[in-house]
Amino acid sequence: MIEIPEAITLSNQINKTLKGKKINSVIVNQSPHKFAWYCGDPSKYDSKLNSKIIESAHSHGGFVEVSLGDIKLLFNDGVNLRYFNKGEKHPQKHQLLIQFEDDSILVASVQMYGGIWCFKDEEFDNLYYKIAKEKLSPLSEKFDLKYFKEIISDESLQKKSIKAFLATEQRVPGLGNGVLQDILFNAKIHPKRRILTLSNKEIEELFDSVKSTLEEMIIKGGRDTEKDLFGCSGGYVTKLSKKTVKEPCRICGRNIIKETYQGGSIYYCEGCQLNPSKK
Ligand SMILES: [Zn+2]
Repeated sequence: MIEIPEAITLSNQINKTLKGKKINSVIVNQSPHKFAWYCGDPSKYDSKLNSKIIESAHSHGGFVEVSLGDIKLLFNDGVNLRYFNKGEKHPQKHQLLIQFEDDSILVASVQMYGGIWCFKDEEFDNLYYKIAKEKLSPLSEKFDLKYFKEIISDESLQKKSIKAFLATEQRVPGLGNGVLQDILFNAKIHPKRRILTLSNKEIEELFDSVKSTLEEMIIKGGRDTEKDLFGCSGGYVTKLSKKTVKEPCRICGRNIIKETYQGGSIYYCEGCQLNPSKK
């Protein structure tokens, strides 16, 4: 899934590789997918996009937004984006294929669900997209300890788990259940801990970990559980993920535990991330 580090990596790669390319043809919905979402009638994408030139790409949280004059192409977290040079073998199943004048290709395919939206500026009304653009990014300077303490001290959140706080309802846009695992591991906080059990020091450590963990993931081109525009895994080696679940903790040697919790898998070290609220 695309989260903050991957959205930034993909945007950077699109800016380096696709900028200036002119669209020659577009195929939409070739392999119909129940949970592929489009903006308006997908059969009109070709007329909207034909002859347009890729100008730039930006990330907003977990969204990748590509600008082509007055048209935008927007992808969300469940979409695989791949670029192929002329003549390179590309997948036959896809929900969007863009061929450029130089015969290179951009393919978007949806895994479980995902949005492939094409629209004129301001014509697209989506709450998640709006929040992702409006709320502070955890990477911005304005997202400081004071701001973090403000959002975490909200009265209505005190009985919620730290996972629910950080990775749901777009409180921190683009911070999802994937990057959450290493953020909490680095802060030594159990994902099920209730907010009200966190000490001031733990809140500060959590804030530091949100910043430093995301920065490391971005510098290294995304997580090793995700693929970039060229199909390569990211350079950030995840500490807690499906890749490490059978290995002992690299800090204390105890087991990494995987559980299903609040609609997704959580991973934690039974030694480093204690859960006092359980007792
Ligand atoms: Zn440990």
